[in-house]
Amino acid sequence: MALSKTSEFINQLFKSEHSYIANKWQNGFFQNIFHKKTTKTVKTGQVIFVGSGAGDVELLTIKAVKAFKIADVVLVDWLVNPEINELIPAHVERIFVGKKCGQHSMKQADICKLLIKQAQMGKTVVRLKGGDPSIFARLAEETEVLAEHNVEFQIVPGITAASGCAAYAGIPLTHRDCAQSVKFVTAHLKDAEEECEWQSLAKEQGTLVFYMGLNRVDKIAAKLTEYGMSDSTPIAVIDQGTYSKQKVCAKSLANIQAERDLKNFKGPALIIVGEVVNKRVEVNQTISELAIAS
Ligand code: SAH
Repeated sequence: MALSKTSEFINQLFKSEHSYIANKWQNGFFQNIFHKKTTKTVKTGQVIFVGSGAGDVELLTIKAVKAFKIADVVLVDWLVNPEINELIPAHVERIFVGKKCGQHSMKQADICKLLIKQAQMGKTVVRLKGGDPSIFARLAEETEVLAEHNVEFQIVPGITAASGCAAYAGIPLTHRDCAQSVKFVTAHLKDAEEECEWQSLAKEQGTLVFYMGLNRVDKIAAKLTEYGMSDSTPIAVIDQGTYSKQKVCAKSLANIQAERDLKNFKGPALIIVGEVVNKRVEVNQTISELAIAS
């Protein structure tokens, strides 16, 4: 049927009682049929972004483990606990794309290219990131590229360092008496010359959690007090949180001194600033292990 004839026919349908078919046309049903005839179908793969949790391998979600089972390849970041390797089936290819600030690593643009390349080969790609993929993990840069190339993806959240470290250190992130909010802050800005918004951070009544700040602890304490935060405000630095080698140093902004207090800290480390640090309690991290063993 010629195109003009087709339109005429469709117009008639709209006017007629056959409005069901006409609606289908409007909703794209016929377009899809015609489209399918002319479009060559190319099998594209898919990408599952997976958060590995803050460190302890047991913080992985069940959904993450399921993703490993259907993966063809896993692209792994540097903060991911290597023990997770044991949970990935042996046949699954692993590519380490670790990016560590200040160290040689694969460039973000190359990681994006690799993701697209693997997906366009028809593979199911797991993109494994430390903690939660949506927190300081450049997730959007990767999802934007996938969307541009029509590659479907899913995001499986993970336990971010703030939740993991706070829990294992016995520090509540919020408290009805002293912290109605919690703010996640990066101490490592895109542009090295750029500064944190010290003025607004120093006014914060809730909890501040600094990521990527181990080599800036003194500066963070000095800047917060310079901009008006009380120097008696508690600060905790948690090194290698949720691992058995976790270390915690709790002081105040006035008396923390990195060279003296954090000399054995290797990182990754998280900084918590606020009254919640004084609400710290003793936790026994082995209870669940005993329960599983019995
Ligand atoms: N997406 C991650 C954060 C990546 S940024 C998440 O959601 O946790 C990297 C920073 O996270 C580190 O510099 C450190 O500040 C923090 N971090 C990650 N794992 C940590 C751990 N096990 N202990 C302490 N801090 C950690």
